[in-house]
Amino acid sequence: MTEPMPAQAAAPAGVSPSVADSFDLAIVGAGPVGLALTNALVGAGVALRIALIDRRAAGAGRDDPRALALAEGSRRILAALGAWEAASATPIRDIHVSQRGGFGRTLIEGSDVAAEGQAALGHVLRYGALLAALEQALVQAQSLTGAARVTRFAETTVAALAEERDQITLTLATGGEPKRIAARLVVHAEGSAADATAWLTRDYRQSAIVAEVTPARAHQGRAWERFTADGPLALLPLGSDYSLVYTTSNGRLPELLELDDAAFLALLRADFGTRLDFAAIGPRSAWPLALRARKTLSVPRQVWIGASAQTLHPVTGQGFNLGLRDALTLATVIGNAVRSVTQQRIDVGAGALLADYRRQRRGDRLGTIAFTDGLIRVFGSTLPGMSALRGIGLLALDVLPALRAPLARRLAHGTVAAPTWRGD
Ligand SMILES: Cc1cc2nc3c(=O)[nH]c(=O)nc-3n(C[C@H](O)[C@H](O)[C@H](O)COP(=O)(O)OP(=O)(O)OC[C@H]3O[C@@H](n4cnc5c(N)ncnc54)[C@H](O)[C@@H]3O)c2cc1C
Repeated sequence: MTEPMPAQAAAPAGVSPSVADSFDLAIVGAGPVGLALTNALVGAGVALRIALIDRRAAGAGRDDPRALALAEGSRRILAALGAWEAASATPIRDIHVSQRGGFGRTLIEGSDVAAEGQAALGHVLRYGALLAALEQALVQAQSLTGAARVTRFAETTVAALAEERDQITLTLATGGEPKRIAARLVVHAEGSAADATAWLTRDYRQSAIVAEVTPARAHQGRAWERFTADGPLALLPLGSDYSLVYTTSNGRLPELLELDDAAFLALLRADFGTRLDFAAIGPRSAWPLALRARKTLSVPRQVWIGASAQTLHPVTGQGFNLGLRDALTLATVIGNAVRSVTQQRIDVGAGALLADYRRQRRGDRLGTIAFTDGLIRVFGSTLPGMSALRGIGLLALDVLPALRAPLARRLAHGTVAAPTWRGD
């Protein structure tokens, strides 16, 4: 999904970047998480010079076929960043959870999180719509506050990074002459990194087929999560359609991609049983699935957020939600540090600041990774008796709201309550 980037290769010899090419932060990756961080920093009204670098051309990410389920906590953060109204999101009223070939099911409803006073369990929107909303909010935030200066580098990657005493020099590959800039802090938001030794990885040997499916009857805001022996399937309400995430083993993937639409819909009917029927399906795309978590979130003058810090199985729809909380926490740590110093310019790459960020992200990050990975392993287990145990678990969830509520809250907010932001 992302291009490898050498993390610490030496920069070619040459003249140091001029003051005009010096930044407080270089954010590598203008995906939803990198953009959210930029928005939060600009919205904080602190004087920062930010370089925002992306390998894609401006606007190119709008065609990404993914739809993202957003937790209520994320909706609040995006609203506070001014990036919610513009996004056309579909509310999730309830979630039906079941397993194929075993008994037990549960329905998680809005009332399970009613104590938080929210109308929907979450919202679904297209990745492209989210990017557009964040871009629009950034323009507005810049015109309102004007304190931070953002310089965009599109169709650009980082060819080399060289750490110096109090800054990092980045050599940018722009398609023409390489360009050198300097930054106090490099924020990795490019989705992944090349250095495999820096990651803990579990290859699920599964891929997700993503498509938009038209239901035969109105979905009424219900999401479906169905666990099968081959992997979990999710249908998320998106406009009048569903966004389908169909997990399958890598061995079976080519066969499923080759099916014509009618044959794929027949398969979907067989997987979901008589509860649901489908009228049409759009183009299918495939995504390899693995758990990847960076062993450390920072090294001197570099920090990782979003999918650059961790990628999760999409079954619980937690990846972007977690990455958004990474971005917000980092923006808060940086914003507070800048505000605490009145006379001299703050070093946003200072070790203490990065240690604070690491400490604040630890619980939420590890909890969300464990929750998602645990669910995949429990529902993927073929050990004797596991199907019955899962059925009992689902039945228990169904009849005991006290058990269901924590699960609903986790899906709605993440491991901990979402960090607050201006006006939240
Ligand atoms: C099938 C599927 C379904 C998902 N569903 C959900 C869901 O329902 N809910 C949820 O919360 N999450 C979901 N996720 C996870 C979610 O998509 C990611 O967590 C989210 O996209 C991470 O955002 P990001 O900005 O960190 O990275 P990305 O979205 O990967 O963006 C990275 C950006 O960096 C740029 N880039 C890449 N390499 C370089 C480079 N070398 N130099 C410069 N720029 C670079 C890219 O062009 C891109 O703009 C799903 C993921 C998949 C695969």
